[in-house]
Formats: sequence, structure tokens, C-alpha cells
Amino acid sequence: MAEEVKIPEAEGTKNFIDNFVEEDTAPGGRVAGMQVHTRFPPEPNGYLHIGHCKALCIDFGTAEKYGGICNLRMDDTNPAKEDTEYVEAIQQDIHWLGFDWGDRFFYGSDYFEKDYEYAVELIKKGLAYVCELTPEEFRANRGDIGVPATSPYRDRPIEENLRLFEMMKNGQVEEGKMTLRAKIDLGSGNFNLRDPIIYRVRFINHHRQGTKWCIFPMYDFAHPIQDALEGITHSLCTLEFEEHRPLYDWVVSNVSIPYYKPRQIEFARLGIDHTVMSKRKLRQLVEEHYVSGWDDPRMPTLCGLRRRGYTARSIRNFCERIGVSKAASTVEYGFLEHCLREDLNLTAQRTMAVLHPVKLTVTNYPEGQSEIFNVENNPTDPSQGTHEITFSRHLWMEADDFLPEPVPKYKRMYPGNEVRLKGAYLVTCTGFVKDEAGNITEVLCEYDPQSRGGDPADGRKVKGATIHWVDADNCVDAEVRLYDNLFSDPQPDGPDKNFLDALNPDSLEVLTGCKVEKEMVQVAEEFDRRENRTGTNAPTFQFMRLGYFCMDNRDCRADHLVFNRSVSLKDSFKK
Ligand code: ATP
Ligand code: MG
Repeated sequence: MAEEVKIPEAEGTKNFIDNFVEEDTAPGGRVAGMQVHTRFPPEPNGYLHIGHCKALCIDFGTAEKYGGICNLRMDDTNPAKEDTEYVEAIQQDIHWLGFDWGDRFFYGSDYFEKDYEYAVELIKKGLAYVCELTPEEFRANRGDIGVPATSPYRDRPIEENLRLFEMMKNGQVEEGKMTLRAKIDLGSGNFNLRDPIIYRVRFINHHRQGTKWCIFPMYDFAHPIQDALEGITHSLCTLEFEEHRPLYDWVVSNVSIPYYKPRQIEFARLGIDHTVMSKRKLRQLVEEHYVSGWDDPRMPTLCGLRRRGYTARSIRNFCERIGVSKAASTVEYGFLEHCLREDLNLTAQRTMAVLHPVKLTVTNYPEGQSEIFNVENNPTDPSQGTHEITFSRHLWMEADDFLPEPVPKYKRMYPGNEVRLKGAYLVTCTGFVKDEAGNITEVLCEYDPQSRGGDPADGRKVKGATIHWVDADNCVDAEVRLYDNLFSDPQPDGPDKNFLDALNPDSLEVLTGCKVEKEMVQVAEEFDRRENRTGTNAPTFQFMRLGYFCMDNRDCRADHLVFNRSVSLKDSFKK
């Protein structure tokens, strides 16, 4: 079942698709009085990426808006490279986003029999013929602008076409020797109408049909038939299909499908900077080990984004807000991050963690003593309660929160400066310890016992910063993975570019020995017991002052904590 994902109502503005739908369903319209029916047709040859989420929002969203329904159809007519692993992953990701197809789940290959019957019907009507041009000859004969294509096989008698097509179907024709072509217009200005191939021979195992078929319909023939048979009223797809629409319309008009004709409407693909959005390229990154898998947290796949810590709500919000248009555009990755921050700010529990730890010793706090402080889980929402942290003489602080000599505007720890330890006490730095190599190994301070909770009893103004810390007697080590753009080039995918050249060598930084609050162990134990760890969002936290981090849904275990940085907080001070 789909998870419950609440999305604020879209701004109430209608997009151009809505206008078409309203025109069609209005009294006297093409599908007046009928229920709006859309579909999402992924090819199961890879994992869904965030571009698919835009299509999902449009397909499911349009249906929802007009009280309609949306089918999920695996477009598996192309027999190569399809896999049940992908089918299951696609279903999981769609449910995770909060969309549900109910019992309307189909495979394009379920219609092979129908496709075949309609192809025979076209032959009988004199609207299709078996052509023996090889792929090279086909290309050589496709003509040019103003020069029609040619095929010497165009005027074969119907009987002969039927016999040859039967031979193709029966496995008596070699691959590449014959195709079935729709007889439309060899001189058309739209090359898709120049007697397009609608069937070809392939001796290949189909993931569901096995070796039952050795002829396979082309997408442009199969897709409109699938839509029409399922009773789709509006077939929403991306702009590259605009030029194919006349062929789509030709197919549904010339085969005797018992339903009304679906209408194809195209919208612009989603592009995001610093990433690539084609399954073929994403697969290459996986297969050639540039990333750890389809769900590598740097990938724009939904499983990668989920592992990174993206919530379904943040992704859907992003897709809602970028809107629907016909103009291709590239959205800033930063906007996606913004949508995540906005969401996690409201939901993520605050905690303290130290990524680059250095010892902080409170020299006037008695050895062996400890006390408990309550910190708010989320200052934006008091109903999320508080949790306990402990304070003692031995703490960890962030290495870059200390400078032996301050630089201008530096308000954190340096000898003589008073700062606030988040949620605990005011402390004044009294010195530091260096090792032989000159590295700072320990910072020394004294606390003001009158400042419990962080405010001085005498009302003096504290100009120092508030810094985070972790109790060394009550913390555990963790591995923390920091991510940057997978590609340094904002447009890795342009023409004349090899996207692999644009890979960012510093897109992953692994920190070990980071210090997190001990309660994380219990959180990880619970997470260990969760059934479908990778299909859901892992526990997520705001590490105060550092950003939002989630447990890694594959690698995090109670005895080896692993966190992913989902997104940083905006940093106002750069050294
Ligand atoms: P890819 O090139 O990544 O394989 P595709 O279009 O071949 O993409 P499909 O599985 O066929 O992938 O896509 C399913 C649906 O998602 C199609 O309707 C397609 O138009 C849509 N879609 C794919 N990529 C995007 C994108 N970047 N933005 C919006 N919609 C997309
Ligand atoms: Mg496709």
C-alpha cells in the first residue's frame, strides 16, 4: 500500500494539461461525462529517478484532481534489458512517494496477442506491408527533406504480406531480414510517418513471455494500443513524443479498438543541474562502479534520494513547485535541497554530534560528576518533546570551533573567550594542549556554575557563539558520509560532452571516529528490526549547527553507526 504523504494543495493555478482535460470532459467534449483515466508507463530497465517523479505527479496528480484513476503499466515491449528486480523496485518507489494504482497494474507485454491481431488487421486493410530492406538499406532509403523515402516492397499483395508476417511470427525469418511497416506516407514532412516499422524480429528471451514471441511491436505501435485498450482518456508524456503524436493518432484511428481514442499531451522533462537523468547513463555509473549502486546516496534515483535522507514529501513538494510546462528547463539542485531542509526543519529531531572531535576539558568541573540536561527535540514544534543529554568534565567539541589565535569576527573558542555550550553552561577558554606535531589535542575551559541552562546569573552580555558538544562519557563513535555533487559541471550531459569526464572526484568524504549521543545505539537497534529498511526513510536527525543526517539504510548497524549527510544547514561563517 502507498504510504500516506500529505502534500499542501497546489496553488490553485491550472496548468495547460488541466485546460485540455477540462475542455475534453466538459459537456460536448471528447470524453464528456467520463472519468479521467491516465497511466504511468515506466520501462522496467532501471530504477526510477526524480524525473520520473515529475511524470508521476502529473499522471497520478491529474487523475486525482479530476476524480479519475491512473494505471501503472510496465512498458516491457522492448525485450532487452528488462528485469523483475526493476519491476519490484519501481512499485516500491511509487508507493513510497504515496501514489497508488489500486488493482490497475499492467504489463505492455500482456497485449502482445492484441498487438499482433491489430497488425494483421492493418495488413488486411492494406495499411501495412512486410519490407525486406536491411537496417542499412532502410536508412539509405529514408529520403530527406523534400525527398521521399522509398521501399520496393510497398505494393506487395495483401495475401503475400499475411504469409510473410506469419513466417516472421513463426520464427522462419532471420533477425534484420524483414520488418512490418505501416503504410502511411513515404513523403511526409514528419519522418515518423514515412512508413514506420511497427514490428521486427528478435530472437530473445522476454522476461515474462519467454520465447513465445520472436516478433516484437515497436513502441510507437504498441503504446497507443495499450492506452486505448486500457481506456486511457489522456496519455501524458514527455516532449520527445510530440513528433510521434501523428503516428499515435494514426494507430488508434486505424485499428478497430472498441473504445474511444486517447489523447496524447506532452510536457517538458525535468532536468536538474549537476546530475544526469537518463537511465542508460545512470546504469553506466552503476555497472562501471563510479557509484556503489542504484541507491548510492549521490544518485538522482528515488532509492538513492531516499537513502540520502530525502523524504517523499520533500520530493513531491519540489515537483509541485517547479510546475508543469512545455518549456524545457533545468532546475537548480539547490532548490531540491531547499525543499528537503524545509521539510526536515519541521520534523527532524535535534541532537548534537561532533564530526571532527577534539577533547574539551572543563577543568573546574569535578571528575566523576555528571548531570542531566533536557534539550528540545524540535524548537519549531514543542509537541515533539525533549530528550536527555548528560554533561561532565570530559567533552568533545568540533575542531574548527577552536582557534589558538582568533581571526576577525571569530566568536567561537579561543583563549580568553567566553562561549555558550549549547543547552548547558557558559564556559571560558583557558588554554589548550598541542602534540609534538603541533596539532591541538585538547582545549581547556572553566565553566560558570551560575549559568546552568546557558544564561549568566548576573545578566552580563555574552558575545561568544553557542557551540555544540558531546559528553565524552556518554557517546559512541560513528561513521559519517558527506556528499557533494556527483558532477562538478552543472551541465554534465550536454552535446559533445562525455558525462563521465565531469564526475566530481570529491563527491564522497567519509569521516570516522565522529561522536554521537549514545541514545543513537537504541535508535539503530530499533531500525535494525524494521522489516523493509531500504524501502522506507531511516531515522533522521538535525545535528545541531551541522545539517540533517540520516542513518544509512544499508550499512548502519547498532554496533557500527553510519550516517549520511542529507543536506547541510546554511553556513553563515566561512573561515
Ligand atoms: P530514461 O531516458 O531515463 O530511460 P525514459 O523516458 O525512457 O527515461 P521511461 O521509463 O520510459 O523512461 O519513463 C516513464 C515515464 O516517465 C515516461 O512517461 C517519461 O516520459 C517520463 N519521464 C522520464 N524521464 C523524465 C524526466 N526527466 N522528466 C519528466 N518525465 C520523465
Ligand atoms: Mg522510455
